[in-house]
Amino acid sequence: MCAMYSDRALVIGAGFAGLLAARVLSESYGDVVLVERDQIPADAGHRSGTPQAHHPHALLARGAEVLEALFPSLGAELRAAGAVQADLGSDFASRVPAGWAPRDPIGLTVPSTTRVTIERIIRRRVLKLANVSLVDGVTVDGLLHDRGTVTGVHGRRSGEPFTDYADLVVDASGRTSKLVSWLAELGVHCPAPMIVNGHLAYTSRLYHVNDDLPLDWKTTCEITHAPTTKRGGAVSTVDGQLWFVTLFGAGGDVAPTDDDGFLAYATTLECQDIAEIIKTATPASPIHRAANLRSRWNRFHKVPNWPRGLLALGDSVVSLNPVHGHGMTLAALNCAELRHLLQDHDLAKEPLVFQHAVAKAAQIPWMSATTTDLGWSQKKLPLTTRFLQWYARRLFEVIPGNPQVYRAFIRVSQMVDHPATLVRPAVLWRVLWRVLTGSRPQARQR
Ligand SMILES: Cc1cc2nc3c(=O)[nH]c(=O)nc-3n(C[C@H](O)[C@H](O)[C@H](O)COP(=O)(O)OP(=O)(O)OC[C@H]3O[C@@H](n4cnc5c(N)ncnc54)[C@H](O)[C@@H]3O)c2cc1C
Repeated sequence: MCAMYSDRALVIGAGFAGLLAARVLSESYGDVVLVERDQIPADAGHRSGTPQAHHPHALLARGAEVLEALFPSLGAELRAAGAVQADLGSDFASRVPAGWAPRDPIGLTVPSTTRVTIERIIRRRVLKLANVSLVDGVTVDGLLHDRGTVTGVHGRRSGEPFTDYADLVVDASGRTSKLVSWLAELGVHCPAPMIVNGHLAYTSRLYHVNDDLPLDWKTTCEITHAPTTKRGGAVSTVDGQLWFVTLFGAGGDVAPTDDDGFLAYATTLECQDIAEIIKTATPASPIHRAANLRSRWNRFHKVPNWPRGLLALGDSVVSLNPVHGHGMTLAALNCAELRHLLQDHDLAKEPLVFQHAVAKAAQIPWMSATTTDLGWSQKKLPLTTRFLQWYARRLFEVIPGNPQVYRAFIRVSQMVDHPATLVRPAVLWRVLWRVLTGSRPQARQR
């Protein structure tokens, strides 16, 4: 049971984190308003505020679990909308640089759907709450404040000035958030963000499933890996009868967006199923590219004069190289923590309690997203980073032909287990055996 605080909470951005935050705040505030730049009709498809929705969005097992607690039966609703439930072992054909990963069942399943579908279903659930409303078509330009307390927002709606007041303002305006400059206008200065850029690019297209292609997976993925493997790709079956095809380029490589170039790039991959799909299936969308996908962390928890009445979460705080699929899960974890803290804290008065929790939740995803990307850098890296990169490379060498190690790796990458499980004896000795003997386990052939 959550405590009731003041009357009104205002959330900037009705994207993934904003919707979840509104759901949680509705338990503690009499009135919750989502202020969103895009116009969002009830059945909205793609919209300009979330260009990333043109690319696949994997929901991690941990994220699915947290969302189910916030929205009971969400998994069933996603499946009813065509999401494909897939075991992360038997239904996935995954290629690491040393070969194909084992296909034994792992016992963890995730729903495979599009970002548009999951956001639409969650939005519908949130806007059904009696005390939550959406004001769309509003671009927020800054914060209103009074003696160290944020009291609302100002912006524009159809060219007219817009202002709105609230007891708590939550910034959930995503990767392009302007919060750092809005705070600077109030005389609040943030430390420079940490940025790691692996120069990753996604180039994606939807295809209608071609039933004539005999494929034995629901998702296939070939990873990039610094410093050797710049190209990769993935296909997931989504929303009933569609394949979401993505070609990855890391370390500055990038797949073309014209038909011929897209296919030519796919033929350079080990996983030839991807090129076969591009050759034989009918496109269901244009080709879209998202480039320069870096990781950035705004360390708001370190701002001593952070104003009362203001919180920030989701990509506005930490936006990550998306290849590990952390973003939606991290936003969900932020909102689970918001719900937990609201039981005992008036966060409008103690905002840094929440910002510290956001920072804590970001540590592991940040480490895993940036450790590999730093492998593209020419700079001399700290010893810990070099050790983690070395261990990850050895782990990937052991994965083919080693179901136990693969299972442990998947559980960590799905944020179900702590990364420390990857140095438990059962995994560690297999890695060390490989290092000491130079032996490679027998990889599965495709
Ligand atoms: C190419 C790509 C692939 C990705 N793949 C995955 C994946 O596989 N799995 C995963 O979990 N995550 C993935 N992500 C990350 C995921 O998209 C984000 O982590 C997630 O959307 C974060 O939600 P958010 O609400 O913080 O931001 P968003 O969902 O981006 O929402 C921000 C909202 O704020 C609105 N807004 C912005 N500025 C203003 C303003 N001034 N005034 C009013 N409204 C404003 C925007 O219109 C938007 O609706 C991917 C990201 C990219 C770029």
